[in-house]
Amino acid sequence: MPAFADDDPTKHLLRRRRACNVKRHWMLVVAVVLCTTGCTSGDVPWKDFSLVSVDQEIAIGREANAQVRQDVAELSDAATGKYISDIGARLVEAARGPEYPYTFSVANYREINAFALPGGPIWLHRGVIQAATNESQVAGVLAHEVAHIAQRHAAGQLTKGIMANLGLGLLSAMLGNAGGADAAQAAAGLLTNGMFLKFSRDDEREADRVGLQIMRDAGWDGRGMLELLELLQSEAESNPSSVEIFFSSHPAPQDRVEGLREAVSSAHGGTRDTTEFRSTKARLLKMAPPRSMPRQ
Ligand SMILES: [Zn+2]
Repeated sequence: MPAFADDDPTKHLLRRRRACNVKRHWMLVVAVVLCTTGCTSGDVPWKDFSLVSVDQEIAIGREANAQVRQDVAELSDAATGKYISDIGARLVEAARGPEYPYTFSVANYREINAFALPGGPIWLHRGVIQAATNESQVAGVLAHEVAHIAQRHAAGQLTKGIMANLGLGLLSAMLGNAGGADAAQAAAGLLTNGMFLKFSRDDEREADRVGLQIMRDAGWDGRGMLELLELLQSEAESNPSSVEIFFSSHPAPQDRVEGLREAVSSAHGGTRDTTEFRSTKARLLKMAPPRSMPRQ
C-alpha cells in the first residue's frame, strides 16, 4: 500500500489513479500545491508523502534494472544465485510494506557493496560473500537493502527530486501518460545517472533499524549486521579502494555502528552460520577472482 497515513485526504484521490489522465493531472497539481505550501514548513513530513505510487515504483525499478543489467557484470553461477535468492526470500517473508516483486542478483565485483532499486531489484556484490565470515553478515546486508525497498525510500527520494525541480521531465511524463513507460524511463534514467540513488542519513538509519528487525524475524542473529559494518571499517584502513564505492553511497560506518551497537546488544540468538554459507564461499574462492567495479 502507498505510504499515506489513514487520515490523509490525498490518499483517496490517489487510489483513483486509474480513473483517467485528467483526474490524475489535477490530483498531481493539487499535490504539488499542497506540498510547496506544506512540506517546507514541516507540516507534511516527506516520509509520509509520495508522488510515486507503488505500481509506478515497480515500473521504474524494472526499467532501471534493465539498464543496470546492461552495465553490471552478473555472476554466472546458478548455485550462488540460488543461495542468495533463498536468503532473500526468507527476509522478504519477514518484511512489511507493499508486496513488491523482489529479485536478488549477484554482481561479479570484488568491492563490498550492495544496492536496491525501487520496487524490488536488489544487487549484492560477490565481494560481500567473500569478505563475510558467517551467513548472518550476508543476511544483514540483504536485510538492509530489503528495508530500503519496504520503507519506500526510493519513492521518497524521487518525490524530493520532483519537488526540488530536478525531475520536471519526470513529472511531465507522469502527467502525460499516467505513469506508464515514459515516466518509468525518465525516472530510471535519473536513478542510473545517480541523481536519486543516494539515500538520506535518516533513510540509512531506518534501513538499519528495520533491516535488523527483518533479519531477526527471519531467524538470523542480528549481530551479523554490525559485524559486516565493523569489517568495512577495518577494510577502510587496510584496503581503502575496496570500500570506496560503498562510502560514495552510504554514510560512514562509524555513525551506523554506533546506532546499531545498542540495538544489537539485545539481538543475540538465531542463525549465525550454515554449511551452505561455508560451501558457497569456498566455491567462490576457487573461481577466477571477481573483477573491480568500473569507475564512471
Ligand atoms: Zn543503505
